[in-house]
Amino acid sequence: MADQLIRATAAAGGIRAVGVITTRLTEEARARHKLSYVATAALGRTMSAGLLLASNMKRAGSRVNIRVKGNGPLEGILVDAGLDGTVRGYVDNPSVELPPNAKGKLDVGGAVGRVGYLYVVRDVGYGYPYASTVELVSGEIGDDVTHYLVSSEQTPSALVLGVFVGSDGVQASGGLLIQVLPKAARDEALVQTLESRVAALSGFTPLLQAGLTLPEIFDQLLGDMGLEIIPETQLVRFHCGCNFDRVLGALKMLGEAELQDMIEKDDGAEATCHFCGKVYQASSDELAQLIVALRAES
Ligand code: ZN
Repeated sequence: MADQLIRATAAAGGIRAVGVITTRLTEEARARHKLSYVATAALGRTMSAGLLLASNMKRAGSRVNIRVKGNGPLEGILVDAGLDGTVRGYVDNPSVELPPNAKGKLDVGGAVGRVGYLYVVRDVGYGYPYASTVELVSGEIGDDVTHYLVSSEQTPSALVLGVFVGSDGVQASGGLLIQVLPKAARDEALVQTLESRVAALSGFTPLLQAGLTLPEIFDQLLGDMGLEIIPETQLVRFHCGCNFDRVLGALKMLGEAELQDMIEKDDGAEATCHFCGKVYQASSDELAQLIVALRAES
């Protein structure tokens, strides 16, 4: 199934559900950044979470940044996801590998670390971005983003994220976000039923690997609660907006002395985009032009 995002409602609009499949884009990130198994799972989960959070924003151009800083060997994760379905991201230490955890799964919590912070920045494209920080709960990403949603947005939320990586790469990746809006939150029986159904899920990737589609997964969870699946399917993909002009802009900010040094010692400069791994080469001539521009500005 193609990478995609589908929205649904239930309980007469009292429940909002979003599902996303990110198998291909997580495989793309794995290949671009040469990620280990556990780094692939950590980044894939965070990219799914970013797309799910961004999907609830209203204004075109809105984006969500998720930064995870834990005390584990992965050091950090940064993801940038948009309402438009694009996402990019990286981890600070892509080669970290750990033995499986006690459940026999990839030890994302051990790689991220259980002590640290999750920073979420929501940018609607104008004015000040809305930023919020919570402490990590387990470093498993799903628990941590759920904690953010409950504490910062005060919305009862269930988030299930999963990435399955095999020897041929990413086999399944995606996630599910279910939120109970204020008008349904008082219905305790409904909330309890929902909580027990989500708790009974053995994870997200087993559902995908069993061949279930997102509408079938929604049906399993919310089918008897007045489920309405919104017919538009949104495609999601790995995309980075970096380009050579931005690289030149960043080089220019280093200043004349540094640029002159690069011309003399390295005969040019090489810059790698953290987000997508693309390598840019600037020649000595191009660096010399930056110096000319700097002098003209001063
Ligand atoms: Zn890039």
